[in-house]
Amino acid sequence: MGQGQFQVIGGPCSVETEEQMRMVAQALVDNGVRLMRGGAYKPRTSPYSFQGIEEDGLKLMRKVADEFGLLIVTELMDARDLPVFEEYADILQIGTRNMMNYRLLKDVGRTSRPVLLKRGMSATIQEFLLAAEYIAAGGNQKIILCERGIRTFDSETRNMLDLTAVPVLKEKTHLPVIVDPSHGTGRSALVSPMGLAAAACGADGLLIEIHPNPSEALSDGDQALDVASFTQFMQKLCVLLQALQ
Ligand code: PEP
Ligand code: MN
Repeated sequence: MGQGQFQVIGGPCSVETEEQMRMVAQALVDNGVRLMRGGAYKPRTSPYSFQGIEEDGLKLMRKVADEFGLLIVTELMDARDLPVFEEYADILQIGTRNMMNYRLLKDVGRTSRPVLLKRGMSATIQEFLLAAEYIAAGGNQKIILCERGIRTFDSETRNMLDLTAVPVLKEKTHLPVIVDPSHGTGRSALVSPMGLAAAACGADGLLIEIHPNPSEALSDGDQALDVASFTQFMQKLCVLLQALQ
């Protein structure tokens, strides 16, 4: 899983503590993963839910990432935070709720950081591509598209992971397309099967939520893999990727 090849981004939904991030970082390094995620500014549905530890989280993640030789992917919700993100983050994530925040898209279009753009939860593929176009039009061509599930009538899973989007997006653009089976399903037991399916249908990478102790996670614990499950998943993924070559 080297440069230009299939990439996995792993880490907790929210950055909580240094110990948590160290355990995650160790799991990533042990499994040959170079990209660590963690939310410091969290877009929560309820204003009373945990909102993230903000700048402290970015600093903490930077420290751990540097120690373990990892790059950081983290969500930017507001352009006013750009200076601090440019100091501590490597890849800026634009979340599903902000895919249609056109001012924010223009703002990240003017930065030099790669942008991981998630599909809006009710966005068509065409709207998703036009959101990416906003970033590109600002001069930033370093865009990673991320399918993370859309809303449908079925409440069995958190979202409906639209894997059809992968080959369709790859047909329409040369941008890398990754899949987030964690938010796409909302259930840890479904992350491995859908992550493997995403790789099988041509995704260029995956975003996987990992927590050393999912039952104690401050956000999205139900969909987080623990370190053992992540390791098991990575073993299966490596076999699959080899078979697909
Ligand atoms: C996240 O990655 O933790 C997140 C909030 O994702 P999404 O924007 O896809 O809901
Ligand atoms: Mn999350």
